[in-house]
Amino acid sequence: MMNRRKFVGAATGAAIFVRLPKVLAARAAKYDLIVKGARVIDPSRKLNAIRDVAIADGRIAAVDANIPADAGETIDARGKLVVPGLIDIHTHAARVNDGPALCLADGVTGFVDAGSQGADRIGEPIAVAKSAPQPCRVLINIGRAGILPEGDTMDISRADVGAARDAIGRNREWIGGVKARLSRDVAGPNDFEVLRRAQEVASSFNLPVMIHMGQTVSPLPKLLALLKPGDVVTHMFAPPPNSIIDDTGHILPEVMAARRRGVRFDLGNGRTGHLRWDIAERVLKAGFLPDTFSTDWTPEGRAAGVIDFPNVMSKFLMLGMSIDQVVACATVNAARVFEIFRNRGTLKVGAPADVAVLELREGTFEFVDNYENKRTGRQRLFPRATVLAGKRVATRA
Ligand SMILES: [Zn+2]
Repeated sequence: MMNRRKFVGAATGAAIFVRLPKVLAARAAKYDLIVKGARVIDPSRKLNAIRDVAIADGRIAAVDANIPADAGETIDARGKLVVPGLIDIHTHAARVNDGPALCLADGVTGFVDAGSQGADRIGEPIAVAKSAPQPCRVLINIGRAGILPEGDTMDISRADVGAARDAIGRNREWIGGVKARLSRDVAGPNDFEVLRRAQEVASSFNLPVMIHMGQTVSPLPKLLALLKPGDVVTHMFAPPPNSIIDDTGHILPEVMAARRRGVRFDLGNGRTGHLRWDIAERVLKAGFLPDTFSTDWTPEGRAAGVIDFPNVMSKFLMLGMSIDQVVACATVNAARVFEIFRNRGTLKVGAPADVAVLELREGTFEFVDNYENKRTGRQRLFPRATVLAGKRVATRA
């Protein structure tokens, strides 16, 4: 094959250098954006080092030390962390119109709305998802009326297989799975039957089920037996009754078996009934690390307790996980759970250029669990800039 320069040379005899028309001579910068000088933590590549990240055409173009600053725009990220864009697999961001943009400013470049609505009003979160700047999917609540104060499926007729199937059929592209909320105050004694019906719906479309565990009427092992590889257990640090850990500090054998067959265990921070420090400490001490972190984000949670995804991640730095483990739970691990995120959660060359710039501040920071227990940590992550598909987005004030 003759390359371009040889071709020019051959065609014009001796002339190698061709004077370009002026408009071409003022050539574009090599990259659209360079994020310079940060500590880049990308667990998908086991990378934790000072690097520059160069972006072109919406994709990661290079991750190297000292990339020449030949870019349309540069972000000076010295002293900051640069990680793949965060993926939050359990939020209620599609409950409000500005939810996706608020999360994006926190570094969340992909999210799942997990069961805010059921078949009757599934169009509402889907409309928000369609207008979201970042990739996202909606889980349909098996309870056809969505989240209800009196319990989504306390009336078992609301776990309506036909209605859920019809709703998915009409919105197949936007629905990423089925959510079954199983606590005593949500499903009461119907928990097992609710989950069985959720699986019936999911299996018709080859979709995962996410269960909301904790304080169930049925023993957890009975419920776990219904989960298939790829399903997700959220609220994994919920206190008893029906925690994943027993009184003697052992993870239940059925929980270990579920993980071995490919069931994922997710944080689901939330605000009430899901996270208690002593349970999280015992579970981590037993060596059972979360697969994924998620905020269970709501406008109320944003105001207190949850705040933002980087704050939720910081709680697990306090509990002793390493920064690399913490970032993995919010990026590469989360990307594996839902099809839409499959090529994300990484800074590999060629991947979509979704990047979160975070600041890891040292100091004294108070964190609260879902039971008003306060703990003090020495580090907290703050969102500083977000890049989505190669473009810098507005940062929260
Ligand atoms: Zn939730």
